[in-house]
Amino acid sequence: MGVFAHSAIRARLKPALIGLACAGFALLSGAGPALAEQPAKQLFGNTPLPSATEARVHGFYSNGCIAGAVAMPVDGPNWQAMRLERNRRWGHPDLIALVQRLSRDAATDGWPGLLVGDISQPRGGPMLSGHASHQIGLDADIWLTRMPNRRLTQAERANTSAISVLKQGTLHIDPAIWTAEHARLLRRAASYDRVERLFVHPGIKRAMCDAYGDNRGNDRWMIKIRPYYGHHYHFHIRMTCPADSPNCRPQDPVPASGNGCDSSLDWWFTSEPWTPKPQAPGTRPRPRPEKTLADLPNACRGVLRAPRPASESLATYSASFDQVAMIASAVPLAGAAPARATLPGLSRLPIPANRPQQ
Ligand SMILES: [Zn+2]
Repeated sequence: MGVFAHSAIRARLKPALIGLACAGFALLSGAGPALAEQPAKQLFGNTPLPSATEARVHGFYSNGCIAGAVAMPVDGPNWQAMRLERNRRWGHPDLIALVQRLSRDAATDGWPGLLVGDISQPRGGPMLSGHASHQIGLDADIWLTRMPNRRLTQAERANTSAISVLKQGTLHIDPAIWTAEHARLLRRAASYDRVERLFVHPGIKRAMCDAYGDNRGNDRWMIKIRPYYGHHYHFHIRMTCPADSPNCRPQDPVPASGNGCDSSLDWWFTSEPWTPKPQAPGTRPRPRPEKTLADLPNACRGVLRAPRPASESLATYSASFDQVAMIASAVPLAGAAPARATLPGLSRLPIPANRPQQ
């Protein structure tokens, strides 16, 4: 699910998360109300670095946290991370490796590089704004906009808008924007065994059905491409629980057969999913109570308190990543100032010359 998913219609269907002002790093020092009573999104949203531990996922995609997350480097040969100021480039090492692999495979398919959107916060958990899921380092948003042929500046990464692939005011892709390369990118992502499902707009699912729906050999990966609200500026990759994390709760599996190009997709093109549910007369929708630490798996208290690595670069998942060294560098979190006061620096990594034409 994504930041862009919050259309007015969806906001009425699902109460939008309301971002609270940053309450500062002092939250973690134990000042004020007991940790367990504070909104969990403030505790997790203001923790700048992961725990310096082995990677462990606790809980569910929309209710949990992650220990030992690693960062997607801001630049790679075939990717650039966006919205760096959000500090949401963190995930389980398996997911970060998968996104990097997708960037390489996609380049061979004709997609010139990924613009990587939100993954998770350094220790996962609920976010101050924008997502219900993305809490355990196993969800990643990839823009449906091609990576440009140069490195973007910090400001461009903060301010550039992704491009919707829909024809304005409709539920259908715009053939002037949507291309066969978009479809191949989704095919590639869905083909990985460890990808549990992808979320895309129903109009995109329809386009995938038009391209690949007639061949039963495609069903195995096509069924993983799930229509949902939003997701026409980016698509969302959800990975299966990793073997190292018995405390990770899997999602109900996608249907065992078919490709999803059926009446369940047709439903999205009726008025029903887009019509607000009527309220009983005289009642007002009650805001959902804020999640606190007590609502998350117990292990998340320990994750929040655990020492941090000595630097962000030690926890960045590049070719030189050394988990043993990262863990050995651990320094206590309590009372510490934020370890990253400024945005991560951009690399001077060149973009490969031999890139597919857009
Ligand atoms: Zn998402």
